[in-house]
Amino acid sequence: RSKDAGGGVYHAYEPELHVQAEERRVLEMALRAALEKDEFHLMYQPVVQAGTGALMGFEALLRWTHPEFGNVSPAKFVPLAEEARLIAPIGEWVLRNACIEAARWDDPIRIAVNVSPEQLHNVEFAAFVASALRESGLHPDRLELEVTESVFMREGTAAVQTLEKILDLGVRLSLDDFGTGYSSLGYLSRTRFSSIKVDRSFVQGASKGNKEAIAIIRAVVALADSLGMATTAEGVETEDEHRMIQALGCSKVQGYYFGRPLPVVEARGLATRDSFGTTVAA
Ligand code: C2E
Ligand code: MG
Ligand code: MG
Ligand code: MG
Repeated sequence: RSKDAGGGVYHAYEPELHVQAEERRVLEMALRAALEKDEFHLMYQPVVQAGTGALMGFEALLRWTHPEFGNVSPAKFVPLAEEARLIAPIGEWVLRNACIEAARWDDPIRIAVNVSPEQLHNVEFAAFVASALRESGLHPDRLELEVTESVFMREGTAAVQTLEKILDLGVRLSLDDFGTGYSSLGYLSRTRFSSIKVDRSFVQGASKGNKEAIAIIRAVVALADSLGMATTAEGVETEDEHRMIQALGCSKVQGYYFGRPLPVVEARGLATRDSFGTTVAA
């Protein structure tokens, strides 16, 4: 960064920031065209029962492959799509395709789909969920929508009403990345979540013996138990982490130790094998 001659004032112009802004602009333009160019696909990560490793379902995770930039991480493009108001059409594509793919599987396993707060603030969203189920023929019981705490941050009740309508369809809800954002425990008691997903940062902390992380997981498990909800530990990568999570009472586990996100064909194969009694243990 350059210093203003004499004045001691730093110029606002920063090359790195400029590159970031330029990269954002380019990515946003590419993202606008991605749906039409068919550059998205879904991967499916197993969710298993803690302890036994029995397959409980899959989480659908969005992938974007750009001909020039290659695979762009959803951690990067999902926030960008949210800011650029592109998440609604992309989110609809995800939901429609996850339902269609899941409906084709022989095994009636459950599929979880991530939903952005922006989608839930749209009053038409529950109707869209209903049409995605109807058009694919997927039973509502097989669909779970993952929402984050941030959905409760905005004023007004549109999102809460949308969640109620979704529950009325017979679709389940889970609370994703719990503990990382703003949390109002009040909403937890008012909205019927099937499962609370404990963020990976707590799993990592607990496995390193971090007392606060352990205390938080214990508290979440106790809270979920008393509200009749399950707990899913995210990002379990090792046997030690699995043992720790199991000891702390989490009911479900997801992470590289049990399986990375898989292409649809492999996920379907895993589901079929599991129905003959195999577990997904690493
Ligand atoms: P998430 O919903 O919390 O999904 C879990 C993320 O953790 C996924 O990253 C998954 O690949 C990763 N993960 C799973 N097990 C492990 C592990 O053992 N270790 C580590 N280090 N990571 C693990 P991914 O696929 O990159 O997605 C990142 C985030 O992007 C998701 O976090 C979710 O917030 C968002 N996202 C992904 N797909 C969609 C989508 O279709 N719609 C929306 N709105 N958001 C999505
Ligand atoms: Mg998720
Ligand atoms: Mg998550
Ligand atoms: Mg997460």
